[in-house]
Amino acid sequence: MTAQLPGWKSLPPGAVITRPGSTVEYKTHDWRTLRPVIDQERCIRCRLCWLYCPEGTIIELDKPYTTKTGRKYTRTYEINYDYCKGCGICAQECPAKAIKMVEEVR
Ligand code: SF4
Ligand code: SF4
Repeated sequence: MTAQLPGWKSLPPGAVITRPGSTVEYKTHDWRTLRPVIDQERCIRCRLCWLYCPEGTIIELDKPYTTKTGRKYTRTYEINYDYCKGCGICAQECPAKAIKMVEEVR
C-alpha cells in the first residue's frame, strides 16, 4: 500500500516574504573559505566592488582616509563579514588590485 501524498492545494505557499527585511537575521558567512581584505592604501574609491558584490555587503562609509603618500579621500569602503560569502567577485573586479582573498580562519 502506498502513502497518500498531499495534493498541491494542501501545500503551504512557498517563496513568500512574510516579514520584509527579515533576511538580515540570516548571517550567511558560514560557508566562506576565503575572506576579502581591502588594502585602504591601494583603494582608489571607485565603488566598483560596492556595485558588483552580489550580497550588497560592501559598505560605503563617510569616513575620511589619508594614504601614507598624502592622498585624501572622503569615503572608505569596508566589508560586512556577517554576510560576505567569499565569492571573490569584488577582488576580481577591483581595478586597483586593492582586494586580496585570504584564507578564512575561525
Ligand atoms: S567576496 Fe563576494 S560576497 Fe564577499 S564582499 Fe566580495 S563580492 Fe561581496
Ligand atoms: S573596487 Fe577596489 S579600488 Fe574600487 S572601491 Fe572597491 S576596493 Fe577600492
